[in-house]
Amino acid sequence: MSEERTLTIIKPHAVKAKKTPAIIQMFYESGFNITALKMIRLSPYYAGKFYLEHKGKEFCEALVEMMTSGPIVVAILEKENAITDLRKLVGNTDPLKADPGTIRKLFGNSIRENAVHASDGVDNAIRECAFFFSEMERY
Ligand code: ADP
Repeated sequence: MSEERTLTIIKPHAVKAKKTPAIIQMFYESGFNITALKMIRLSPYYAGKFYLEHKGKEFCEALVEMMTSGPIVVAILEKENAITDLRKLVGNTDPLKADPGTIRKLFGNSIRENAVHASDGVDNAIRECAFFFSEMERY
């Protein structure tokens, strides 16, 4: 199987709690390579655009507020089967339901503050990598 790329975001509360190095370490230990990485702060406009599929859901406004509350770390991760394997490493959306050893179990505070984002399929991985990184940055 060939290499696959997926997008991850370390969410503001985890960046603020200085969990970035520990989470990046888990990516490497699970066999991912990081091909692009940066720290930025999302505006409400871009957070809303990123989470367009959740527009209108009752948690959407609070999600945008949380995602814009401080800097985030975004990265493109690469390995065979990257999309599925990252979702496994990240764990259930709700940290209370996440398996032991997953990133959300270890670093999540709540279903909203669940430490990281991971693309949920091939189409979204492509869209999300292009959302955050220019063509040059994705080379
Ligand atoms: P995932 O991030 O696991 O793919 P979703 O795409 O369903 O989950 O949701 C996107 C993000 O919205 C979640 O990571 C979480 O931060 C937030 N979220 C999802 N469901 C809820 C909820 N019921 N209450 C509050 N926030 C939620």
